[in-house]
Amino acid sequence: MTDRALIHRLCVIGVGLIGGSLARALRHAGAVDQVVGCGRNADTLQRAEALGVVDHYTTDPAHAVTGADMVVVCVPLGAMRGVFEQIRGHLAPDAVLTDGGSAKASVIEDARAAFGDLPAGFVPGHPIAGTEKSGVEASFSRLYNHRRVILTPVAESAEWAVDRTRRMWEAAGARVTSMSAEHHDDVLAATSHLPHALAFGLVDTLSRWEGEQEIFEYAAGGFRDFTRIASSDPVMWRDICLSNREALARALRRYTEDLQRLTELVERGDGAALEDIFQHAKARRDRFVALLEDKH
Ligand code: NAP
Repeated sequence: MTDRALIHRLCVIGVGLIGGSLARALRHAGAVDQVVGCGRNADTLQRAEALGVVDHYTTDPAHAVTGADMVVVCVPLGAMRGVFEQIRGHLAPDAVLTDGGSAKASVIEDARAAFGDLPAGFVPGHPIAGTEKSGVEASFSRLYNHRRVILTPVAESAEWAVDRTRRMWEAAGARVTSMSAEHHDDVLAATSHLPHALAFGLVDTLSRWEGEQEIFEYAAGGFRDFTRIASSDPVMWRDICLSNREALARALRRYTEDLQRLTELVERGDGAALEDIFQHAKARRDRFVALLEDKH
């Protein structure tokens, strides 16, 4: 191990946008000596190696984690449990095991089901950063710059493991906070999972309307902005919706009620009430964007 590197051997299982960007960022920061990539597909991993994202690769998760002091699982949520089952019994006792999954209670449940007793090094996490693109080719080292990462440690998570996970994400440029998995899932249902479900739903709805071609022909920048995230990976988002289904269903129900109210205001031609809603929304969004810009 070099004197300065935070991580000696980083194992990334799922070298796509999230895992690939983390490997790139840690390399860029000089925070890692060696990166081992793992996935199902040797061609993808070969590309990751050619791009300089990983030093070595294997399609065998048990082999990949052997000798790693930091293991980060960045596969779709539906694949987490299978990966945990494959690495059980192969982690070093002082290894950190973390993940980048977008829902947290389901990852913890999967880990409990796979490991029985959770390893002390287990620290679930979620980087609040991403794009609508997927795969290692879409990864870039600045993805986590000034972005938040939420850790949701469990009772079994050792302090050294939480600390090392936090330092890893800070080295990648992120700001790290902690909360319970349940709270994380409620918050993210509202801020991320609901908007994605709505964007997919809106494009799907319009694409089934009569005159669909004309609708898309005349769609402009606003439509493009609103629906950008409907270009995200459908399998990943299917898994996120299923993994956080209770909180997302609550959010969708609340939103449906408000949408019903909006429909009634439009039908009634209640301009004052509509303007009220739009003024309130504009002020809130302007504040949110200003806050984001301040942080950069
Ligand atoms: P991605 O670009 O599609 O990468 C996923 C990677 O996982 C691929 O390299 C894929 O490679 C591998 N993989 C898929 N199934 C696997 C399996 N059964 N076993 C081993 N490897 C498998 O997806 P991503 O955007 O990086 O998302 C990864 C995770 O991060 C997800 O859990 C997601 O919820 C979370 N996340 C995503 C975002 C976002 O905006 N994209 C943001 C925050 C968190 P192979 O096909 O070669 O197996």
